[in-house]
Amino acid sequence: MLKKDIIFYCLICMMVVMKERTLILIKPDAISKRLTGIIIDRIERLGLDMKAAKAAVLTRDLALKHYENLKGAPYLESVIDFMLGKYSGIEDHRIYAFVYAGKDAVAKVRAEIGATNPDEALPYTVRGAFGRIKDGVMQNCVHASGTPRDAEREIALWFRPEEILK
Ligand code: ADP
Repeated sequence: MLKKDIIFYCLICMMVVMKERTLILIKPDAISKRLTGIIIDRIERLGLDMKAAKAAVLTRDLALKHYENLKGAPYLESVIDFMLGKYSGIEDHRIYAFVYAGKDAVAKVRAEIGATNPDEALPYTVRGAFGRIKDGVMQNCVHASGTPRDAEREIALWFRPEEILK
């Protein structure tokens, strides 16, 4: 491989890494507790770029597609009900959805939100600080993609391409 080819390849790799994207959802428990601003402030402080934002109406079909990794889990139905606002008094099924991008976006946001189980999440993380388990349901405030591949799949579920900044 020629030196200029190697430099070109490295540049492309850097651009891909810099543009890593992640999907963030503010869940109904956080919406009802008016935590959206606090959560987004924490994400902003990570130095990532907001590329898309919307108040979306969640359908059962979208929830099932989003959580396809939970297929067969005994708690899937309660997670869907939770996401549809059943435990938070959010009757219009709203979810606030965001795309953020930047270097290591997925890992940075996951570290900020903390472990899935709020009882196990470190106290200074979003889920550790604001999440709880109530009536056996993990009310953990926020979703963030687990891998860059998951992120791209999830972003395509929640946003049309023209809704996302380049
Ligand atoms: P994460 O949201 O951290 O990516 P998962 O994709 O494994 O975690 O799970 C999706 C959601 O399902 C969690 O955010 C949580 O609301 C719920 N959940 C996960 N594991 C359990 C469990 N063992 N019991 C009840 N609810 C769970």
